[in-house]
Amino acid sequence: ARQFTRPLNDLANQWNTLLSAMAGAERVFEVLDEEEESRDEREAATLKEVKGAVSFKGVTFSYGKEDEGEADTLEGISFTAEPGDMIALVGPTGAGKTTLIQLLSRFYDPDKGTITLDGRDITGITRDSLRSHMAFVLQDSFLFQGTIRENIRFGRLSASDAEVEEAAKLANAHSFIVRLEGGYDKMLGVGGEGISQGQKQLLAIARAILADPSILVLDEATSSIDTVTEIKIQDGLQRLMQGRTSFVIAHRLGTVRQADKILVLKEGRLIEQGTHESLLRQGGFYNQLHNGQIEDREAEAEPGNGG
Ligand code: ADP
Repeated sequence: ARQFTRPLNDLANQWNTLLSAMAGAERVFEVLDEEEESRDEREAATLKEVKGAVSFKGVTFSYGKEDEGEADTLEGISFTAEPGDMIALVGPTGAGKTTLIQLLSRFYDPDKGTITLDGRDITGITRDSLRSHMAFVLQDSFLFQGTIRENIRFGRLSASDAEVEEAAKLANAHSFIVRLEGGYDKMLGVGGEGISQGQKQLLAIARAILADPSILVLDEATSSIDTVTEIKIQDGLQRLMQGRTSFVIAHRLGTVRQADKILVLKEGRLIEQGTHESLLRQGGFYNQLHNGQIEDREAEAEPGNGG
């Protein structure tokens, strides 16, 4: 299960490193962007309001362009997400789920095909602008050395204390925060040291609620979290996803079932897409996953199942 989500965790770790180096004052992406800025197309626009319609049309991408003959990492990916849709990405390790997210957030651009946001090719949108409409809640959320309040406020630096607390309440984080010594002023160590894994996730949800993005990327936790916290996380995530287009790298059957659309990836191809019921009826690869892997993962993530 660990291996399943390695690349996104690597991404999160990079963020952690950056964040620790930044004293928490700047937004992650501004730093990440410094090197890339020159690559923004000269005419690239900034987007004020985003509804969250996403479409991939014939998207093909390979990391190693110099390696001729190597299979593409993603090949001919096409799908649409309506504003507010919850899209679940499922498939074996190495299928291309993380890469799809990396293309959507313009860490890389497609070799062929187009990705649009509200009908607009995202290569015509600056990376800063695109990412200002996105938030990420990953397994290892990127918390930095600083107070809990600062860590939440990172979602929107202009937020008042009252707004920070409001977001924490919506995320189900407020009650644990006020019970900590120091409350919102409690200092966290590098990587959020000092609170539990589940509590870190609640903070990441609070931060994302404060950021109020149109597009959300969630990497569902596979590690065991106690039942009570897990319920709080699921409930907080529901509230966070409300009215936003969300892409969930899903490990739990419960989550996948709720998705408006499931994208089934295998070896870089989108082999099936549809709702849980329609994919089960097809009796294809998803059906196999459902009868084996996905349920295994759910069992694995079941709290109290071996720590
Ligand atoms: P998933 O998230 O479904 O596990 P990934 O998108 O991480 O799949 O990986 C798809 C393929 O791309 C894998 O074969 C992986 O080894 C490769 N890959 C991922 N990231 C990189 C990278 N930065 N450079 C080269 N290859 C990569």
